[in-house]
Amino acid sequence: MPQFPGRIASKLPRAGTTIFTVMSRLAAEHGAINLSQGFPDFDCSPRLRELVTKYFNAGLNQDPPMAGIMPLRERIAEKMAALYGTRYDPEHEVTVVPGATYGIFNAVATLVRPGDEVILFEPTYDSYGPAVEVSGGVPVYVPLRYPDYAVDWAALARAITPRTRALVVNTPNNPTASVLSGEDMRMLESVLRGTDIVVIADEVYEHIVFDGMRHESCARYPGLAARSYVVSSFGKTYHVTGWKMGYVVAPGELMAEFRKVHQFNVFVTNGPLQYALADYMKDPDAYLALAAFYQKKRDFFLAGMRGSRWRPLPSRGTFFQNLAYDEISDENDSDLAVRLTVEHGVAAIPVSAFYREPPGHKVLRFCFAKSEETLARGAEILSKL
Ligand code: PMP
Ligand code: GLN
Repeated sequence: MPQFPGRIASKLPRAGTTIFTVMSRLAAEHGAINLSQGFPDFDCSPRLRELVTKYFNAGLNQDPPMAGIMPLRERIAEKMAALYGTRYDPEHEVTVVPGATYGIFNAVATLVRPGDEVILFEPTYDSYGPAVEVSGGVPVYVPLRYPDYAVDWAALARAITPRTRALVVNTPNNPTASVLSGEDMRMLESVLRGTDIVVIADEVYEHIVFDGMRHESCARYPGLAARSYVVSSFGKTYHVTGWKMGYVVAPGELMAEFRKVHQFNVFVTNGPLQYALADYMKDPDAYLALAAFYQKKRDFFLAGMRGSRWRPLPSRGTFFQNLAYDEISDENDSDLAVRLTVEHGVAAIPVSAFYREPPGHKVLRFCFAKSEETLARGAEILSKL
């Protein structure tokens, strides 16, 4: 193959292959139990599969409307109103997108001009920084306080400058498994009051919040809803992470700009899957039952780890459990993650992958979206260390 004769100046000079791909590949090579990448090892509901088959066979295989089919936008708007008390207009304020990663990327592309600053909390879900940099923006990092990963609101206020265009907030949070409280949301609302800063709210784990806490959506707080793109993913909610289907809701003016970019970025999102999801969403039980479903898995995994030298950090939401290993090893988390996979047959994600510089915390992230057999085998191996 003849190679490009010139030079391309990389827009992401520091980016390598994502840690999820690296660890899942290593797990596959070594036949390890894969508790690294965040996806279930079980299938979605048979009814959802039947609906997809039905719509694939119904001749609905050409472009759907640009913003998504209306029945699905209506179901999304109804859900937002029922759960968070804010009524989004399905015509102008709800857009179906090919996954939350895309939704965030498109929101950043809508807002950010070269030199604009976007505030990110660190540890940071890995797609946010690159999304900002590709648009020529400058990520500004505000550290979350280890070990509870609390937000330092004074530090956030100090990070705001006249160039701050947007802020990305992720609750429930990947990788920390922390969840923002109502008090946090009121602080956020107050820090942003009087600014033009737009919030990109990554709420893909909105239905996975534990121990009786409730999800504090930006949509619930008028001062935040008015300035937020709220992004969610059907992948997490319906155990279909490979579908790359999600949605974005935002006030009309923000959404009009988002759609201008969206129509030239992807134009439309998979049609048959939208029809299937619109039918499936009629039954709220599937998402309302999700927190209890995953809390049981979290508790099952933790019960298997009891008495071990791993120290669980609180998992208040998401399907991740962080385990501190300072009593087990002095190794850094990346080395331990590799050794655990290769020598012991369990793969996890080193939490330093979500920092620009390794913070030195001895913590690995384990995904418990797995069958009980998988979790039991993983916990048994880990407990012996
Ligand atoms: N944001 C966070 C915090 C995630 O964990 C994920 C999951 N992989 C995504 C976004 C991406 O969601 P999607 O698969 O819909 O792109
Ligand atoms: N979000 C997944 C995780 O945290 C990774 C897969 C992805 O969507 N990038 O493990």
